[in-house]
Amino acid sequence: MSQLRRCGWQYFLERIVRTPSRPSVPAVAGQVVHTGTEQVDRLLHTGQTDPRVLLQAASTDADAAVQAAIVEKSAAGWEPSKWKAFGRATAEKPVGEDLQWFQAQGIPQSLVAYVEWRMETMWTLAEIPHFGAAIEVPFVYYTNSGNQVHGWIDRVFVIDGELVLLDIKSGQKPKTSEQLGLYAAALRNGLGWNVTTGYFLYGLKHGEAKLTKPLDLTVWSDERLSRLYDMSSQAIEAGIYLPNPGEACWSCSVSQHCEFSQAAI
Ligand code: SF4
Repeated sequence: MSQLRRCGWQYFLERIVRTPSRPSVPAVAGQVVHTGTEQVDRLLHTGQTDPRVLLQAASTDADAAVQAAIVEKSAAGWEPSKWKAFGRATAEKPVGEDLQWFQAQGIPQSLVAYVEWRMETMWTLAEIPHFGAAIEVPFVYYTNSGNQVHGWIDRVFVIDGELVLLDIKSGQKPKTSEQLGLYAAALRNGLGWNVTTGYFLYGLKHGEAKLTKPLDLTVWSDERLSRLYDMSSQAIEAGIYLPNPGEACWSCSVSQHCEFSQAAI
């Protein structure tokens, strides 16, 4: 859904035409950072609070995740040098933020920033019945028209007795609270939990853990979410895939096959 709305043409090329898509360094690095932060929270949940131990474990898991991605994508003919780097070339980073940059700086800086932020806040993870600590919680949300939206909730914490959501971004802050609103709706419909507040934690790859202000998620009613997702579904059925050249082109996995990519400035 997010891909369709970020750039319909990307959705069309990747999922309808099935154009061979180039692995995206920021996408792989984002998953790697999630793997590392997940390890941090699993250890914290068991009572481990030594930041050096947390960082070491997160780094080990992240290194393993990078190597696994390299093996998997190389086997498909995509050596790391061919992966899509992030951002425009600069004198400092002539090819943008490539895998080398993420391995040397982006990923380690993310993990340090996350560990420091967790040690500072020491928020308590919520417990999901029959699942455990609320880390990467899978869900299926049903819209009013019966469309299914699948996803994973990064974290649910309990602060002063109140449930709050957290989504972790190694890069920029999202432009809306929709993703968190969907998570709140999934928890409401799936567990009967009333979660009205959420946060994005972002900027990690540059060594910062920036937290948004508390975001009011009550604006995301089932009706509003259903309208959004059901309209997206209708666009697919009607074959409407609007291209959206711009910032997204700098990390787009199918840009080499896209006639609109040259328009990005
Ligand atoms: S290169 Fe840009 S316009 Fe083309 S598909 Fe990718 S994001 Fe869309």
